[in-house]
Amino acid sequence: MTQTIDLSRIAVILHKPRFSENIGAAARAMQNMGLSRLVVVDPETYDQEKINRMATHAAKDIVNRITCCNTLKEALSPFTFVVGTTARLGGERSVVHTPKVMAERLLGLIRENDIALVFGPEDRGLTNDEIRLCHELVNIPTAQFSSLNLAQAVVILCYEIFNASREVKSEFIPRLASRHELDGMYDQLKELLVRIDYIKPENPDYWMANLRRFFTRIQLRAKDVLILRGLCRQIDWYANKRYEEGKNNSDSHRKDDGKTIIRAGSQE
Ligand code: SAH
Repeated sequence: MTQTIDLSRIAVILHKPRFSENIGAAARAMQNMGLSRLVVVDPETYDQEKINRMATHAAKDIVNRITCCNTLKEALSPFTFVVGTTARLGGERSVVHTPKVMAERLLGLIRENDIALVFGPEDRGLTNDEIRLCHELVNIPTAQFSSLNLAQAVVILCYEIFNASREVKSEFIPRLASRHELDGMYDQLKELLVRIDYIKPENPDYWMANLRRFFTRIQLRAKDVLILRGLCRQIDWYANKRYEEGKNNSDSHRKDDGKTIIRAGSQE
């Protein structure tokens, strides 16, 4: 069976894994399925011996090249497409794909994008805040008991990706914006929207969550982020200019008739 696609652009990210054995077993599963990039974020334990034992000799290269990060945000910053995995459904976890459908979608992205598959800790899974960093979610359908062992969830996702990669019929999708580019844009947008009174300064992140959801749905490309940031800069420039003009006008009116001009909304 020959593999026709380079899967090295897809990384498995284990967020706060509790057991070293699961790190090793995940590495072995990746080796079975042709994936090679493993990132571990803030593990509860990192026992090299237990990792090696579960990874076996076959996956030693993957283990030797594991990248360790302190935060999920840092781990995700180079990726342009982030997939979260969840055992739980409902609430913010309502739009989810099966591993098979997700695998096919990912292969459309793979030529131009670095893709992260994020797995949560064994006891509690990913939090809602962590889920918000993901473009899309995947759930492995199960009978009533939905929570798989972490490494078993990894093997199922990797298997579907490997399987899909053997029969490529995917649509080409250009490079999407990275997490880092998106975060820069959201910060700029938040500042501007507070300044022009579009969102409330008391709890801007609450209002930004709606915008984040909106932008996540349309999967911004790197180029789209540049356009949106340019738009923000222009609105900011224009608002400043009008503000300065307004100030100058009101100064000159003061000179003209000695009366104070009252701006709309002002408490003067
Ligand atoms: N008790 C947690 C499950 C944690 S299992 C919960 O209810 O969310 C550890 C991780 O394995 C999960 O965060 C997820 O990444 C993966 N996982 C386990 N079961 C899964 C399933 N049915 N679908 C998708 N991912 C799953």
